[in-house]
Amino acid sequence: MAWDFSTEPEFQEHLDWMREVVREEVWPLETLSHELEWDQLMRALAPVQEQVRERGLWAAHLEPELGGQGFGQVKLGLMHEILGTSPLAPFAFGNAAPDSGNSEILALAGTPEQKERYLYPLLAGDVRSAFSMTEPETAGSDPTQLRTRAVKDGDEWVIDGHKWFSSNGSIADFLIVMAVTDPEARRYQRASMFIVPADTPGVEIVRDVPTMEHPWESWAKYGNHAEIRYQDVRVPADALLGAEGAGFLIAQQRLYPGRIHHCMRWLGVSRRAFDMLCEYSLLREAHGSTLSEKQTVQNWIADSAAQMDAARLMTLHAAWKMDTEGVGAARREISLIKFFGAGVLHDVVDRALQVHGSLGYSTDMPLEAMYRYARGARFYDGPDEVHRESVARQILRGYEAPAGGVPTEHVPTRREAAREKFAHLLEAVTSND
Ligand SMILES: Cc1cc2nc3c(=O)[nH]c(=O)nc-3n(C[C@H](O)[C@H](O)[C@H](O)COP(=O)(O)OP(=O)(O)OC[C@H]3O[C@@H](n4cnc5c(N)ncnc54)[C@H](O)[C@@H]3O)c2cc1C
Repeated sequence: MAWDFSTEPEFQEHLDWMREVVREEVWPLETLSHELEWDQLMRALAPVQEQVRERGLWAAHLEPELGGQGFGQVKLGLMHEILGTSPLAPFAFGNAAPDSGNSEILALAGTPEQKERYLYPLLAGDVRSAFSMTEPETAGSDPTQLRTRAVKDGDEWVIDGHKWFSSNGSIADFLIVMAVTDPEARRYQRASMFIVPADTPGVEIVRDVPTMEHPWESWAKYGNHAEIRYQDVRVPADALLGAEGAGFLIAQQRLYPGRIHHCMRWLGVSRRAFDMLCEYSLLREAHGSTLSEKQTVQNWIADSAAQMDAARLMTLHAAWKMDTEGVGAARREISLIKFFGAGVLHDVVDRALQVHGSLGYSTDMPLEAMYRYARGARFYDGPDEVHRESVARQILRGYEAPAGGVPTEHVPTRREAAREKFAHLLEAVTSND
């Protein structure tokens, strides 16, 4: 009987060390992020990165032959829970998005030459990458509608299209572009992935799109989301990443584990917000007592703890399923945690912000930034509605409308059937009366 919620002691030591180093060496740097340039900030992180490498935890999401640990999703999930507590922590551990996901794609589908040219420099931190799929004109939640086209012309592919929200697109050295190669193929076999160096003629970075997370106009900063036009972009045949028509298949291999990591990082953010909620409720007094003595605030604390525990168990269970049965087997669980986890993040941060009043709304606390971050979680990597729909469809496959048009549990019908089934017993038990 294996039903174990414990972490093996050697790995727990890693987690304890990570928690300590992230809290003591990374959290303080967050407060300097406005006065330091990005490169300066990264240089300030270098001593921690060194320690992470020495401990063998750098880019742990990758397989050992690429310098990772091949930990599997449960362990990675537990690590991401700690990394999620700070937007800077993933950079200290060599698994910041989108480079981490792109390195997984390259490791999975890249040829030896592509790995040499793009993957190893990416892992060494010498180049940056972006993933360019979403288009302003088509619904990102239904990528089978993609319009960006790649057409074969002799030994080259010619790419034309319009993308936006390509995170880090304006500072990337290369872009992984999703484009339709065969519009007549089955829906999920129409698109392919291409590696496009950012300086290829025809690649035009139109702008960095200001967002809720970064509302100010800025250009070429880490974490920005670029609008990009691809006009008559010619790349050689070997720019194709993976097989022709395998774009969605490769994306799926990347997105499923990525959702575990997202959900665990959201729990890290939620936990930090929750700690602020609890601490401030004990500090602030209003109407004759501390806020912690108000029933509403107690409800927030209890509800948040319950939601976080539920999301954590669900996410680790999805990770365990992936580790034991493969990526595809956890489809339903991944969809469940994606929308449930995003909702938990939102609710916990919202309550923590509310309890702080105007202090929570101000940038004197990190809560307003967490709140803006939390809002995007409900639609990137698939909007809540799409994941709910997917879960419901999978569940409904196990049901069918009852023959005869009467619900299976209809009491009068069941009573009639029970009378028939137990007629002899009924006669016996009632004849004694
Ligand atoms: C912070 C951030 C980073 C991102 N990074 C990248 C990146 O690096 N690369 C990239 O390619 N993209 C990126 N994206 C884009 C992201 O993947 C898309 O926003 C997402 O796929 C949704 O697509 P859309 O915005 O076109 O919304 P749409 O698909 O147009 O959906 C809009 C809304 O329609 C509703 N909806 C959709 N389908 C259904 C349904 N079946 N039932 C009911 N309602 C429905 C939902 O409410 C949804 O929010 C990023 C987005 C954000 C916010």
